[in-house]
Amino acid sequence: MLNIVIFGAPGSGKGTQSELIIKEYGVSHISTGDVLRAEIKGDTELGRVAKDYIEKGQLVPDELIIDMLAKVLDTQKNKKGVIFDGFPRTIPQAKALKKMLNERGTDVSILLDLQVEESILIHRLLERGKISGRSDDNLETIQSRLNVYHTQTAPLAQFYIEEGKHVAIDGGNGSIEDIFKRVEAAINKVIG
Ligand code: ATP
Ligand code: MG
Repeated sequence: MLNIVIFGAPGSGKGTQSELIIKEYGVSHISTGDVLRAEIKGDTELGRVAKDYIEKGQLVPDELIIDMLAKVLDTQKNKKGVIFDGFPRTIPQAKALKKMLNERGTDVSILLDLQVEESILIHRLLERGKISGRSDDNLETIQSRLNVYHTQTAPLAQFYIEEGKHVAIDGGNGSIEDIFKRVEAAINKVIG
C-alpha cells in the first residue's frame, strides 16, 4: 500500500497537491480538516466541540481526532492506499497513526513536507479567505494557526526523519504543476 502523509504549514498546499496525487496514484483522501468541517455542518457533538478550537486557530484535542481518524480509516476499502492530509499534527497523533497502520499490516510510506515561506503562506490564506468562507481564514486566526504549527506540528518532522520517511519539498516556488513534479519524483522514488 502507498500511504502518504502530506505535511506542511496552513496554506502550504496540502489539499491542492493531494488532489493531484489522488488522480495520479488512485489513493483515497483523508483530510481531518474536511471531516471536522463536515461534522460542524452536521451540527454533531464532535462538530460543536471542534468549532471552538478551529475558530481560535487551536488544535482539536488528540483523543477526539485519533478516535475520529480510526473510524474514517475503518471505512476505507481502497487497497492502493491513503493520503493523510492534516493528520498527524502532534507526536501522539503520529504514534497513533503508526499503531493503527501497523495493526492493519501496513505503515506510512512517505511524508511529503511542503516547505513554504511565511509571507507566502499568509498571502495565500488571506486570498483563500475571500472565497472559502472558512471562519479560520482571517489574519488573527491565521497567526495563531501558524504559531500552533511551529510549536506543535513542525517538530513532527524529526519523528519521520528518524523513521526514514521524511522528504522536504519546495512548495513555495513555481506553479502548482511545478510543485507536483517535485512531489511525483519523491513518490516515484519510494515506489521504485
Ligand atoms: P491548509 O489545508 O491550507 O494547509 P490547514 O492545514 O490549516 O490549512 P485544515 O487541515 O483544514 O487547515 O485544518 C483546519 C483546522 O482543523 C485546524 O486549524 C485545527 O483546528 C483542526 N484540525 C484539523 N486537523 C487536525 C488534527 N489532526 N489535529 C487537531 N486539530 C486538527
Ligand atoms: Mg487543507
